[in-house]
This record gives sequence, C-alpha cells and structure tokens, in this order.
Amino acid sequence: MDRRQFIEKSTLVSSAIVLPNLLTGCRFDNEVGLGVALVGLGQYSTDQLAPALQKTNNCYLAGIVSGTDEKKNDWSKKYKIREENIYSYDSFDQIKGNDEIDVVYVALPNALHKEFVIRSAKAGKHVICEKPMGISSTECKEMIDACEQNNVLLSVGYRLHFDNYHRHVMSLSKKSRLRQINADFGYVVEDPNEWRMKKELAGGGALMNIGIYCVQSACYISNQLPEMVTAQSFKSKPHFFTEVEETITFQFSFPDAISNTFSTSHNYPANRLSVDSENEKFDLSPAFTYSGLGSTFRSRKFSTVNQQALQLDDFCKCIIEGRRSKVSGEMGLRDLQIIEAIYEAAELKKEVKINYS
Ligand code: NAD
Repeated sequence: MDRRQFIEKSTLVSSAIVLPNLLTGCRFDNEVGLGVALVGLGQYSTDQLAPALQKTNNCYLAGIVSGTDEKKNDWSKKYKIREENIYSYDSFDQIKGNDEIDVVYVALPNALHKEFVIRSAKAGKHVICEKPMGISSTECKEMIDACEQNNVLLSVGYRLHFDNYHRHVMSLSKKSRLRQINADFGYVVEDPNEWRMKKELAGGGALMNIGIYCVQSACYISNQLPEMVTAQSFKSKPHFFTEVEETITFQFSFPDAISNTFSTSHNYPANRLSVDSENEKFDLSPAFTYSGLGSTFRSRKFSTVNQQALQLDDFCKCIIEGRRSKVSGEMGLRDLQIIEAIYEAAELKKEVKINYS
C-alpha cells in the first residue's frame, strides 16, 4: 500500500469513530499528511526529529519555530519550509491562523514545555511535548487541561513505545510472572553550564533527563503502577553538580512484589535493562538508544525501526482516528508524579507513597 492509499484508508476506516472536533481546522492533505511544526531547533530536533519527518507517512515537516535567524535560514533551505510557516518564539501565536500546521512538536528545555504546549493548545494545534513533560506534576495538569479545553490531542515524546525491543519487554508480563526488573541509564555531563545542569530550566538532574526512561520501563514492563518508593541520591562531584542531582538510585514497591532497582547518573556511562520473568530472561544493552539496541540473551534480535518516525505517524493516526495517544499527556503526568515521589524519598531518606491524584 503506498502513502496515498494508506492515508485514504485510514480516513475511511476511521470515519465512523472520528471525534469530529479533532480534525476541525486540520488541512489534512492526502498526499503529504498532517503538517508538523518543530519548536526549538536544538540537537534533538536537528539530529532526530527533522530526519524522522522525512520518513513519516502520515505527516511532514511543515514549519519551524526558533529564536535564531541563522537556523531559520538554514532549515528553510534544507527542508524547503515556506516563509509563512517560520515563526519566532514571539510570533508563535500567529500559528493559530495557519492551516498548514496541524501539530506542534515542543522540543525545548524542560521548563519551557508548559508555556509552548499551552500556547499551541490555545492556537488549536495538537501537541507532542518532549520528555519530561514538565518540571512538576502541577505543570502537567495545566497542560492537560489546556489541551482538553481546546479540543486538541496531547502526547509525550516517549519514542521507546514504538521500538521493537521495548515492545517485546512490554509483552513479557502478559506471558508469565515477572520476578525482577533492573535498569541503569547514565552518561557523563562535560559542561557544567548546559541547561540540563540548571534547576530552573531542567527541573532536576539525571532523573528528569534520563532516569525518566527507567521510570517508564518500570511501568510498562510491570504493567503496574508502583505504589511506594525508596531512593538514594549522592554526588561524587558536588562542586560540579551544584544545582541538580548527579546520581540517584530508586526501588519501587509494586502490587505484585516484583524485585527491582533503578539507577541514573550524569556522572557515569550506563545503558542497560534487564527483565527476569518465569518464561524468559531478557537483557538489553544498549537499552535506551535511538538505534542499535541489543539483546545479550540468546541473541534475540528484532528489526531496527525509526522510533521517532513511528511515534509521529502514530500520533497523526490518533488525530485522524479521533483517539488518544498511547503515550498521552496523562502518562507524562503520571511519570512526573512518580519522579516527585522519588525526589521526596531521597530527601527524606524513607519510603514514600506515590501520589497519583
Ligand atoms: P538542546 O539544548 O540541543 O536544544 C534546545 C533548544 O531550545 C535550542 O534550539 C535552544 O536554542 C532552544 N532554547 C530556547 N530557549 C532556550 C533557553 N532559555 N535556554 C536554552 N535553550 C533554549 O536540547 P535538546 O537535546 O534538543 O532537548 C530538547 C528537549 O528534548 C528536552 O526536553 C529533552 O529532554 C528532549 N529530548 C528528548 C530526547 C528523546 O529521546 N525523546 C532526546 C533528547 C532530548
């Protein structure tokens, strides 16, 4: 089935269940799919999202939002982006009247997500927000409310839900009882001045940035919500990590007593996930990368996918079909609630109940 046939089929199949308001204002071009505007042309947009948008079937790179004229010029030439679809952060609200943009993808430092998700919602655009969704659960609730009030869909950039290795580990708990889950994700931050080291912009350190993948794994592998958490945070380079945590380890209490421990650090390299179930033992290393994931057990191999392209296509299909994304704003909120409990447990040095209200 070619691109055109697929989109036509999606539209037809979905017509019975589509929530009519979701496509209101969407130009939905059968040839190219929905138009996506990237907000923030940093590393993730440049190296992952824009290339992924060249491989999508249901959407394409239609617009950009940046504070830098040089980037706007380079991107408009490279990706043939029309002048009318290029915005600054100040002019961004004018996107409301632009029917070539259906989806806004917010890839800014964490503390700026809330503002741009809410501005996108008010402009009537569906939104994908990068992880972590916000720097507090309160922010996430405000974003969810704004999207609901403006009848737009909200999703979080949880790309691993579309990866074949992670889809496999998600299935293990359905086949047999899980005994253990462990994960460790870290890398060495070299620049003490980057925004990820600033509490105001990042909201926290390694946990906010990459430990969130461990939180995600804990939930989608167990298929349960952790109830309680203990955590230990430490700094071996306190002069370097002055505002946010360096390394944090945490353990959840699940309804089904699954043994687990998770670690994340901005001061050592690690990229590993291991799951032990009654049926299967599965070790993944690297576990959280964009590609090149590898299973070290019985050389189990799955095909490599473009995680971001699948994630983008799936979100656009959700819009077309009028259904929520499986990586929804509610999931982003849940993860912030868990993260807040981890920080509290580390601070209080005692077990803390996770508050999902
Ligand atoms: P980056 O530093 O490379 O890019 C950030 C962009 O925001 C830059 O274009 C910068 O100019 C712009 N910006 C606007 N206002 C800014 C301000 N006040 N301070 C600093 N930069 C400002 O960061 P990135 O790696 O592209 O990360 C962006 C978001 O994407 C983050 O939320 C991050 O967690 C997320 N991310 C997700 C993944 C993933 O695998 N899903 C991977 C990397 C990053």
